[in-house]
Amino acid sequence: MNLTEQLSITAKENPHKTAYVFQDKETSYMELEESVTKFASRLQELGYKKGDHIALVVGNSPYYVIALYGALRMGAVIIPINPLYTAHEMSYILKNGDVKAVITMDVLLEKFEAIADQVPSVKHYISCESGANISLDESPLSAKLKSFTQLIQEGNLEFDAPQMSDEDTAIILYTSGTTGKPKGAMLSHKNIYSNAKDTADYLTISGEDRVIAALPMFHVFCLTVSLNAPLMNGGTVLIMPKFSPQEVFKIATDHKATIFAGVPTMYNYLLQSAEGNSSAFAGIRLCISGGAAMPVALLGQFEKAFNAIISEGYGLSEASPVTCFNPLDQPRKPGSIGKSIINVENKVVDEFGEEVEAGEVGELAVRGPNVMKGYYKLEEETALALRDGWLHTGDMARMDDEGYFYIVDRKKDMILVGGYNVYPREVEEVLYEHPSIAEAAVIGTPHPETGESVLSFVVTKDPSLNDDILMEFCKMHLAKYKVPSKIEFMDELPKNTTGKILRKNLRNKVEQ
Ligand code: AMP
Repeated sequence: MNLTEQLSITAKENPHKTAYVFQDKETSYMELEESVTKFASRLQELGYKKGDHIALVVGNSPYYVIALYGALRMGAVIIPINPLYTAHEMSYILKNGDVKAVITMDVLLEKFEAIADQVPSVKHYISCESGANISLDESPLSAKLKSFTQLIQEGNLEFDAPQMSDEDTAIILYTSGTTGKPKGAMLSHKNIYSNAKDTADYLTISGEDRVIAALPMFHVFCLTVSLNAPLMNGGTVLIMPKFSPQEVFKIATDHKATIFAGVPTMYNYLLQSAEGNSSAFAGIRLCISGGAAMPVALLGQFEKAFNAIISEGYGLSEASPVTCFNPLDQPRKPGSIGKSIINVENKVVDEFGEEVEAGEVGELAVRGPNVMKGYYKLEEETALALRDGWLHTGDMARMDDEGYFYIVDRKKDMILVGGYNVYPREVEEVLYEHPSIAEAAVIGTPHPETGESVLSFVVTKDPSLNDDILMEFCKMHLAKYKVPSKIEFMDELPKNTTGKILRKNLRNKVEQ
């Protein structure tokens, strides 16, 4: 079984059920299924074959869903790319990923015009209309341009699907990993199908659910949890073009959402806007957090303000992505990423790959049907990440006696102060406990005596807060060597488009 075969079955069983809602317009499973087949048939007629690489550079919209499932149906390998990437970043992925076609938006064509000469392998640019009224005829790319809407209109419902196997690559996700240039994690049909199914079963995502897709769809967290998991079960996806607290409150209320999935930063923004909106989450039975550590203080404040339940989980691109979640039928442990989901094994290992005792810190390793095939064209990196049949995540973790895992921090973010390990997360957790702190991030900086020292960046809700008060607070809660040597106040912290706080950018800022 793969995602598009599953869609056909779901559409047959629930033809008139709403597959997704976008800007208050509902689209049924039958309509989605037909558009997907029409798009797949036109891609085939344009000459694309099973195994061809197609980049998907589209914002959250029905176009994304149709293009993704349509291209998968004709056997293409999808490479999702963040639409906010610069032309230079796009060009790297298009070249490295051997891309033959790009599906994008008319408003993004300028970026591709700038790099088209560098990527002659791209035969077509398929453009979705943004509503900005941009004429495709005037583009320098016009010879290679196709209109997405026209392709669907011309598409055929008679379609010969290629023979596909579970092991065929379905998606290549470019992820920064721990070092260097982005690497393409190759996920097979089995990888993405099994992870959506196992996550849905573990979190009881069903046909009754109406899931808010607020995260960017190019990110695997959104792809698996907010898109594939509900669609494979006949649920409804509530597509948000862009995250904003007010839009979340509106969609949640107007469209009777039952599940919200977001990164901690989104929960933080929602919390800042809680006043007058606390009833918006009344119909939401489950809030899902992942992608970055959820500060325990934020979790408590959010749950209290919205009378909601957050289940925190963990994942990474290389694991399609989900490996752990807090269970719904057993105690939930704040600060923990929960237990291994169905069919996936997690363990904590030392530097020799040996499993350590419960309670001890080591690297988190993962095994299961969700683990990637490898990095595209990177044998050495693949061999480093996939050892003895386990994916080595680069995240430091511990497991308790009851099988709950705790992410301590990323291996590479650890700070060494006078020989002692400091994990930024433990300092951040303390800062978040201060009632005036809205956001916090911690990095290490070179220090002449101790090797490194702790440097912290905060956003405050209270302008009268100063570093003396905060330093005193840290001294009360942290061992001396973990107390920041300096606290810098900022208007906001740098984040990527998924909402993850970028410690890397803070390091660059300090270096400069
Ligand atoms: P990506 O491949 O972009 O999805 O990023 C995966 C990384 O996000 C992981 O390797 C972790 O470092 C981090 N991450 C994801 N979920 C959590 C979590 N719940 N707590 C801490 N870190 C997380």
